Amino acid sequence: MTTPLLLSIDQGTTSSRAMLFERDGSTFALAQREFKQYYPQSGWVEHDPEEIWQTTLEVCKESLSKAKSANRSVAAIGITNQRETVIVWDRSTGKAIHPAIVWQDRRTAETCRKLSTDGHADMFTRKTGLLVDPYFSGTKIGWILDHVDGARVRAERGELAFGTVDSFLMWRLSGGQAHVTDATNACRTLLFNIHDNRWDEQLCSVLGVPMAMLPDVHDCAADFCTTSKEVLGVELKVAGVAGDQHAASIGQVCFEPGMIKSTYGTGCFMMLNTGAKPIASSNKLLTTLAYRLDGKTSYAIEGSIFVAGAAIQWLRDGLGIIKDAEESQELAKNLDSNHGVYLVPAFTGMGAPYWDADARGALYGLTRNSGPATITRAALESVCYQSMDLLNAMRSDGASIDTVRVDGGMVKNDWLSQYLASVLNIPVERPMQTETTALGAAYLAGLQVGVYDSLDELTANWQQERVFTPSMDEHTRTQVSAEWADAIRRTRS
Ligand code: ADP
Repeated sequence: MTTPLLLSIDQGTTSSRAMLFERDGSTFALAQREFKQYYPQSGWVEHDPEEIWQTTLEVCKESLSKAKSANRSVAAIGITNQRETVIVWDRSTGKAIHPAIVWQDRRTAETCRKLSTDGHADMFTRKTGLLVDPYFSGTKIGWILDHVDGARVRAERGELAFGTVDSFLMWRLSGGQAHVTDATNACRTLLFNIHDNRWDEQLCSVLGVPMAMLPDVHDCAADFCTTSKEVLGVELKVAGVAGDQHAASIGQVCFEPGMIKSTYGTGCFMMLNTGAKPIASSNKLLTTLAYRLDGKTSYAIEGSIFVAGAAIQWLRDGLGIIKDAEESQELAKNLDSNHGVYLVPAFTGMGAPYWDADARGALYGLTRNSGPATITRAALESVCYQSMDLLNAMRSDGASIDTVRVDGGMVKNDWLSQYLASVLNIPVERPMQTETTALGAAYLAGLQVGVYDSLDELTANWQQERVFTPSMDEHTRTQVSAEWADAIRRTRS
């Protein structure tokens, strides 16, 4: 008898995907739909919640029909999602009262500055592990309540619901029966106390968010809701939920303190498991939940870089010096060195560990010999140096790290993965299954419904496809690190 499949919904920033996984973590099927990005003003980014919902529903139905054609059953659903994005909807109609405000949206920058000048920043960092920044959900909820007629009063009366994308999807999937989320999504809102593991009255009050609009917070593996037959055509349990980076960490089975994963997509997100105790960073990294299982929280330190693969997109779409992302590997490989050229891709400011919103990108060291290959190599190298800065920040916070597990679209590039190992001076491990985000959500659901009995079974599933070991001499590493540090110093505003 074949084992049942696990359906994972991966609702990302640019597309909605559904994947079916086998028990051993291999892929059975994948369906994907892109949706529109809306930029109504400079620095604003919105999604249409109906498009998020429709694309998600379509990919789920497509996947379920593939399972049915193959005569395979589905044990449960896991959800992973773009984090921090805010949706506020009417409980009576299920309709959003405003477009979704996306994590990238900077419209509340002024509110955040004011919270800091009013002296609230330390309290937020102490209780949530985050920084007061528009990136996180809290100030965006307040913005919607202040800008939609009557919304604040209705929210106070309990007529409106807030949710991150997971929460909105579960409301819809359950036919309006469930208003729930998981602890990893909750911990990115600026409203959730990561030490007490619950919504924090004081934080909600400072941000002007009525607690009546908040979802119930569950462990990452839990009975979140059951899908409505009228909506999805079948009743299935949603039994696992985690925000995208947390899910990737689970998909990479980073369950022991000291284990670290780094995801290289549009941006780069590095997450280090620090175990049962939250560690406050002295280097502007975020303290966050890795996951919460059986009521027990595992914490993590996270560093995010805004531009990783986006630098390669810029080479292709902005400069037009490569035709596709794959070409970057050949160009970089054929140069004997970087010829002293460094790109600091601070196109939208700098993320961790610098958090310099006003810095802008810069290219250093150009000569008459610099061409497309030099610039391409500088772009790939910049991803590695930024990772080095994150790793060094984690080390300064007391972490001892001896290997890093990588995933995401960029790490198919062998040259990049090799250079990363050389610059970090530790082995870089690439897994067989690189769809770690979707896999992590499937694993959570599988744990809840008994497809897996323990984390050890997940650990046993992880398989290395290739390991890249450092191959740069000490002298070169010291030199490129110093030249990069100099480029950073000159770029900071
Ligand atoms: P996201 O989930 O953020 O959309 P993906 O994990 O799908 O991102 O990765 C896509 C990113 O990886 C793009 O920015 C693309 O430029 C980059 N990328 C894809 N293939 C390569 C490659 N071979 N070399 C370098 N970058 C690549």
